[in-house]
Amino acid sequence: MNICVTGGAGYIGSFIVRRLCELEHRVTVVDDLSKGHMEAVDPRAHFIQADCGDKRAMAELLAGRRIEAVVHMAASSLVGESVTAPAKYYRNNLIASLSLLDAMAEAKVSRLVFSSSAAVYGEPERQPIAEDAATVPINPYGRTKLLFEQALPDFAAAYGLGAVCLRYFNVAGALPDGTLGEDHNPESHLIPLVFQAALGLRKSITIFGDDYPTPDGTCIRDYIHVLDLADAHVLAIEAAEAGQVAAFNLGNGDGFSVRQVIESAQRVVGRPIPTEIGPRRPGDPPVLVASSEKIASQLGWDPARGDIEMILDDAWAFHQSHPKGY
Ligand code: UDP
Repeated sequence: MNICVTGGAGYIGSFIVRRLCELEHRVTVVDDLSKGHMEAVDPRAHFIQADCGDKRAMAELLAGRRIEAVVHMAASSLVGESVTAPAKYYRNNLIASLSLLDAMAEAKVSRLVFSSSAAVYGEPERQPIAEDAATVPINPYGRTKLLFEQALPDFAAAYGLGAVCLRYFNVAGALPDGTLGEDHNPESHLIPLVFQAALGLRKSITIFGDDYPTPDGTCIRDYIHVLDLADAHVLAIEAAEAGQVAAFNLGNGDGFSVRQVIESAQRVVGRPIPTEIGPRRPGDPPVLVASSEKIASQLGWDPARGDIEMILDDAWAFHQSHPKGY
């Protein structure tokens, strides 16, 4: 299939591109390189540096390359930043994404896989969270993802779009050989920061709040291996059905606190990692754990690398071989 991946030079996007290339799809990556890394783009893919919110350019590109499916990953994705700079999030995640849908309609591309987020749920009462839980986001990031999801049924009805929204929990890990992994600048995610502290590249890892209503007071998250996530995208592309919109959670169903992640990382590196306690980060819910039964039962998703130590082991391989990133 001819598949366009927006944000394909980013952390998650680069793994999806790699998997699609492995399966011999013809992949076009559209990335503005504002965050992504050329080094992370699979050489088998065709790379175009462009803004996926540029409707004219995207309509031409989608038609010209006979694209049959779009995997839309390009987004701003930092919860904390979305609270202080919401305009950027509405512009990049909502306005640009709607313009991409417009371009897809014009170019008659009818399959979409959208990278959504656990942040659409806010602070649900029940864990693990199923897809029919109330969607009440508590930060602008989650709101932009939800608003875009909510527009999809209208595009499905009017233009026959078939869309699958994948609501990611906490994505982590790397290729086990350490050649592809997570590198943000500046880095803000827990696992890369923990390993930077382990490598002595930063003084310590700051735990954002130890007064949450959780057993050890730190936030609980559900970590999913980026390779398992990439597999789910392949299934989602196949499942996108014209005129239909579906949403699936992607997590492992196990919650780990920030302290537990740091303890596991210490076991993986074999030495203590300096930690300190800081204030809560605005917009962080105390607990987010997925039920992924729906994607397992409906699409046959079967994660192979769900174990937290396996996720950390692979991430450690990348950080050891790329201490300063790509
Ligand atoms: N976190 C932390 N210290 C850090 C970075 C993150 O304690 O330096 C916490 C954060 O508050 C959240 C969890 O680690 O509870 C995962 O955060 P991350 O930014 O990795 O992913 P997010 O949950 O925002 O998608």
